[in-house]
Amino acid sequence: MTAAVQLEDVECVFGSGASAVRAVDRVNLSIEAGEFFTLLGPSGSGKTTCLRMIGGFTLPTAGRIRIGDADVTLAPPYARPVNTVFQDYALFPHMSLRDNVAYPLMVRGVGKAERVRKADELLALVQLPGLGDRRPSALSGGQRQRVALARALIGQPQVLLLDEPLGALDLKLREQMQTELKALQRRLGITFLFITHDQHEALSMSDRIGVFNAGRLEQVGTPPEVYNAPTTRFVAQFVGAANVLDGETARRFTGHGAAMLRPERIRIGGAEQARASGTVAEVQYFGAFTRVKVDTGGALLQADLPADPGTSAPEAGSAVHLHWDARAVHALAG
Ligand code: ATP
Repeated sequence: MTAAVQLEDVECVFGSGASAVRAVDRVNLSIEAGEFFTLLGPSGSGKTTCLRMIGGFTLPTAGRIRIGDADVTLAPPYARPVNTVFQDYALFPHMSLRDNVAYPLMVRGVGKAERVRKADELLALVQLPGLGDRRPSALSGGQRQRVALARALIGQPQVLLLDEPLGALDLKLREQMQTELKALQRRLGITFLFITHDQHEALSMSDRIGVFNAGRLEQVGTPPEVYNAPTTRFVAQFVGAANVLDGETARRFTGHGAAMLRPERIRIGGAEQARASGTVAEVQYFGAFTRVKVDTGGALLQADLPADPGTSAPEAGSAVHLHWDARAVHALAG
């Protein structure tokens, strides 16, 4: 089967000489048709540059990009079967919502009646039925983002590129839009390439995640693969909270040279058969769980204890014994 988007040894270097920035460093990636694929990584790791190269706004300095069967490496944005939703919505303030959504059809010379019909259909799809006559200024942030989404979808792109589209929304609205966006993608079956630096967003929405670090794609996998079996230390620490153990501590507690242990897999119990013992250095209350940092005399181990009104969390300074299942340990390379 042909991939929806394929990157082969794609590289993007800005500037030259000593001031050159290698924003994207030989990335290989194949995104399947109908997939919800997320590029996850910290600020400056190269996600946006990667997306811009797929959209045609930035040209790669090496490598090839294919969309479906077509090699689009050097094609201009309008000649690619993709569309982009940006974080800042980029709506035209002087136009009605209907005209904003219909704009791509107007540029293509589609007649007015057809434009109105399609725009109203798309506004209903993004749950803004009957609001076609309003101006963007009369909308909330979440509603504006929905209009931008409708406008990006009206041309029926093969691939929709979404650059931190929910970044400007408050947490509640963001969570609501995450659910809506995912449902919309399932319904339409369009390939979504989504960018975020928020690991929760990536884990909860994606079919697969590509984790970026310093211009390189460190791991590609399903959310459980990336979370449970990170291939690098960076992925272990960036996706979720992690205890990364090295050297003597790793050997003593896990039998490996380096290993990861998720805090929620650690429990506090009796001295018998404890895997580690130490003194509580810090206790942080988070509502759903309590984070306890234990000084094991060499390494600080973090345990996230589920909320349980029946028992109280240990206090700072108290001696505790830590337990975990052997399967909770994930060996890391060197
Ligand atoms: P963010 O989440 O902050 O948008 P990002 O992961 O999307 O970050 P990019 O915007 O792709 O990262 O940037 C990757 C690197 O390339 C950064 O070091 C950035 O400063 C640099 N960069 C991006 N665009 C340009 C440009 N036009 N000229 C020079 N350097 C650039």
